[in-house]
Amino acid sequence: MSGKILVLPGDGIGPEIVAEALKILEALREEPGPGFEIERAAIGGEAIDAHGVPLPGETLERARACDAILLGAVGGPRWDGIERSIRPERGLLALRSGLGVFANFRPAIAWPQLAGASTLKPDVVRGLDVLIVRELTGGIYFGQPRGIRERDDGRREGFNTLVYSEEEIERVCVVAFDAARRRAGRVCSVDKANVLEASELWREVATRVAARYDDVEVRHMYVDNAAMQLVRAPKQFDVIVTSNMFGDILSDLASMLTGSIGMLPSASLDVSGKGLYEPIHGAAPDISGQGVANPLATILSAAMMLRYSLDAPALADRIETAVGRVLDDGLRTPDIESPGTTVVGTAEMGDAVVAALRPHTGHNH
Ligand code: NAD
Repeated sequence: MSGKILVLPGDGIGPEIVAEALKILEALREEPGPGFEIERAAIGGEAIDAHGVPLPGETLERARACDAILLGAVGGPRWDGIERSIRPERGLLALRSGLGVFANFRPAIAWPQLAGASTLKPDVVRGLDVLIVRELTGGIYFGQPRGIRERDDGRREGFNTLVYSEEEIERVCVVAFDAARRRAGRVCSVDKANVLEASELWREVATRVAARYDDVEVRHMYVDNAAMQLVRAPKQFDVIVTSNMFGDILSDLASMLTGSIGMLPSASLDVSGKGLYEPIHGAAPDISGQGVANPLATILSAAMMLRYSLDAPALADRIETAVGRVLDDGLRTPDIESPGTTVVGTAEMGDAVVAALRPHTGHNH
């Protein structure tokens, strides 16, 4: 394995959780093998403070030049008042679209050790393994025109545009059907075709793509029903493919099935497999600086990065196994604690995963 990784810590808990993922990558880098280079750049509020924009041109150029990007999170109350077009979150949207990472993989896996951390009954979530494939560079988050304008009567109205081309729908559906082939072979395409024309086209194209995959079972579901079904009986799903905004909302919902948003990694891939890897949660300003954030979503994102963009699946497996061992040992950050477990901070959790990486040593029950 070799490659160049660009690390973008960002804001809030971003630097704290990325530091723990870096401990893991550094530990793996010390081992024999081709290794990888790690660089760092600014994004979000940090970049606004230093350069006046949330995605400096230099950050995007360096992101384009490397093999994979590991991002913490962006945003926070400090930048909420600034002009909308240069807010931290716009930097992240610009990075995703600038890199062309249109397919966002959001696995929601219920770790058996955390069955008690879910707000749902353990029976409903035990064994859950859903992959949400969210379209990431189109739809209402990017459609033009958009804005807030004044009407003739002096009152204002906000407006956005939901637009999807056939090509955009097709390529993300292909990625989802390919992924289903490597999993349980079932795709549920989620839309709102009864109300929205963009969704009507989505369903038509998804149906067309499905016809090329005899071995994959397809069904279509309205997003309101999908939200209900995810809470009622989440194990009915294997792969869910959906648009940018529906995927944003459903994947946060799915995260709570697993117990904590602090456990869920994500990968966003372009046509060639280059990727942007980040936890699905945000900058969590309410807990930043306290050393209590759960770093596991970021550590598991680093594992996905090794698997998908750096061709090092064995190292990815080792990280995931190490996380499992640490959970087996009963170590928990506050967001996933339950009776009988030991609460640890962000850095202790990272150190424990590093220790558990070593096969057969450095790990005591
Ligand atoms: P959030 O995901 O930051 O936080 C939601 C809740 O989950 C908070 O109570 C937080 O403490 C908790 N949480 C999140 N990550 C956690 C972790 N690793 N460990 C323990 N608890 C964790 O969402 P929010 O509060 O809606 O947004 C906060 C800021 O983050 C805003 O500025 C928002 O725009 C930004 N944001 C950024 C991203 C991103 O960078 N990808 C995503 C969502 C929100």
